[in-house]
Amino acid sequence: MKYLQRISVLLLICTSFLLAKPTIYILATGGTIAGSGDSEIKSSYSAGAVTVDKLIAAVPSINDIAVIKGEQISSIGSQEMNNKVWLRLAKRVNELLANKDVDGIVITHGTDTMEESAYFLHLTAKSKKPIVFVGAMRSGTSMSADGPMNLYNAVNVAINKESIGKGVLVVMNEDIHSAREVTKSITTAVQTFVSPNAGRIGSVFYGNVEYFMQPVKAHTVNSEFDISKLEDLPRVDILFAHPEDSSIFVEAAVNASAKGIIHAGMGNGNLFPSTQKALSKAVEDGVVVVRSSRVPNGATTLEGEVNDKEFGFIAANSLNAQKARVLLMLGLTKTNDLKELQKLFLKY
Ligand code: ASP
Repeated sequence: MKYLQRISVLLLICTSFLLAKPTIYILATGGTIAGSGDSEIKSSYSAGAVTVDKLIAAVPSINDIAVIKGEQISSIGSQEMNNKVWLRLAKRVNELLANKDVDGIVITHGTDTMEESAYFLHLTAKSKKPIVFVGAMRSGTSMSADGPMNLYNAVNVAINKESIGKGVLVVMNEDIHSAREVTKSITTAVQTFVSPNAGRIGSVFYGNVEYFMQPVKAHTVNSEFDISKLEDLPRVDILFAHPEDSSIFVEAAVNASAKGIIHAGMGNGNLFPSTQKALSKAVEDGVVVVRSSRVPNGATTLEGEVNDKEFGFIAANSLNAQKARVLLMLGLTKTNDLKELQKLFLKY
């Protein structure tokens, strides 16, 4: 009898272990997914007005698949995103994921700068566990709000074993993107996120996850960037090129003590002559200049139409200007050496 009792206790322990739900933290930063407006048929609303508890309460089904814990990191529209919030978020993510009882993280975020925040985490999170960004294009009070399904799908991606080791992911409108590749492509449409150079890496349909690809550039546990002791990040400005461009913006950035400038150039990162002159002068003054492009697809290649070696410019490879800015900010926390910085743009 005693033997039978022991067996059943053992079985009970085994089953509860097997049935134990994964623990997922939802870190809320604001955005339209937490937005609230006066009318379900008007496009005006305030971003970041709804708290993390209310976001979770709006999608009760996530409690069936995971033990959900919520934390409010900030309550801002992501157009207000800044270094302080990035560092707070990255430090908290690293702290939580170092705990063996935490299985993954979902970060709710505005869509405007989600690609930059996700890439920042992609380069600074020190864990293989899933980290999933999610947002919405319609506020919670809008007709056909997309936030609840996006959040449900994001939690499903975060608990999926195949998401481990893929770096930071962005889940929107049934697509799964790698943080390195994803960008917002349409100002207002629900289907706004695309990965122009590589394509989405997976899909999630009513919680069913399917992956097609694996990110190959270095990230998370293979990244060399350590933000654990940083309180701020180096200033890097972006300048947008156009015909009849002016050097005054370069001079303004240098005078504002920018440590780096990303030039979103024409075509393959080309520059208007006066801007080129001002930027090569900036390099002589110790400012790091990276050539990216205002074209949404393709790479800005070294020594294309521009003599990068002569001017001391770096080419952004296939990073768009806003992501090149993130990488340069982190790169400048490690080195000012132009050759080393150029290598980063090929590695990450
Ligand atoms: N402006 C909003 C934000 O980025 C837009 C959104 O979330 O869709 O916070």
